[in-house]
Amino acid sequence: MKNLSSPRFVENQNSTVQCVLCPHQCTLTEGKIGICRVRKNEGGKMVLPFYGVLSSVAVDPIEKKPLYHFYPGSSIFSVGFYGCNFRCPFCQNYTISQYTEESARRISPTSLVQEALRANSFGIAYTYSEPLVHFEYVMDTAKIAKEAGLKNVLVSNGYLNSEPTEELLPWIDAANIDLKAWNEEFYQKEVKGTLPPVLEFLRKASSRIHLEVTTLVIPGVNDDPNDIEEAARFLASLNRKIPYHLTCYYPRYKYSVRPTREEDLFPLLERARKHLVFVYAGNTGGGNVTLCPSCGQEVIRRIGYFTRVVGGQRGRCSRCGEEIYVE
Ligand code: SF4
Repeated sequence: MKNLSSPRFVENQNSTVQCVLCPHQCTLTEGKIGICRVRKNEGGKMVLPFYGVLSSVAVDPIEKKPLYHFYPGSSIFSVGFYGCNFRCPFCQNYTISQYTEESARRISPTSLVQEALRANSFGIAYTYSEPLVHFEYVMDTAKIAKEAGLKNVLVSNGYLNSEPTEELLPWIDAANIDLKAWNEEFYQKEVKGTLPPVLEFLRKASSRIHLEVTTLVIPGVNDDPNDIEEAARFLASLNRKIPYHLTCYYPRYKYSVRPTREEDLFPLLERARKHLVFVYAGNTGGGNVTLCPSCGQEVIRRIGYFTRVVGGQRGRCSRCGEEIYVE
């Protein structure tokens, strides 16, 4: 357990603590834990009972995050936590996001970085559940990882206040951020959050790190083609080359809506491609190719999680030199 003194908390004289890490801004009375289930008021002090507690460790293809334009074809050391500041009733990882397990494996940032180095990974991905509610651990680890020459990759809902976002981004190299829907009502009713802070996070991230975005498409729920097009239009206003992943949902947790079929994605992909250069279907079991938007040459070929750069060199199209990916 870690005791904290940080500008991300306000510890009041009446023994309440306000957490100002994410837009929920939870005010915690003594003994209470935040909406995220991992930040707690103990004796009038903010403590982190889950500092370094991991739910999962694995080496994954980077395409599984999904990141399609960041070191394509490589594998990355990936860690997951418990807890989340959203309440998505369709969560695909609810066993770790909506529950906590204090007795799970605990590891220090230094040891985690050593494990990543032993695994010969080029970086660490903070993923599986919501890493940003473990802000201090992610920051502590990311700094050590960077010093050791590793990349830091974030897979997140992007629901973070502006000040901690500024603090975080210099240590992060790439991120995939969930855009749950282009719909404020959906964010409020289903997710128990709000859309504007996520858009703000995307704005800040787009100019500083390699950014990709994912929408989990749920039939009849968040699949209005006009909304998808508006989301794509917004992303294109940041950068037309932001890769946008429209992925198939499967019934999980509290949702029993039928699974998304690959063909459900077709009209949505088309609408998004009106604005963005790189739009992909995800969770389909099939493949995805990346064509050079300038000359049309095939640059990256993917079959399942098998990925090969077939027409690129040092991040550029080998035929015309157009910038396509990071490596
Ligand atoms: S990070 Fe957790 S405790 Fe802090 S404001 Fe968000 S939900 Fe509340």
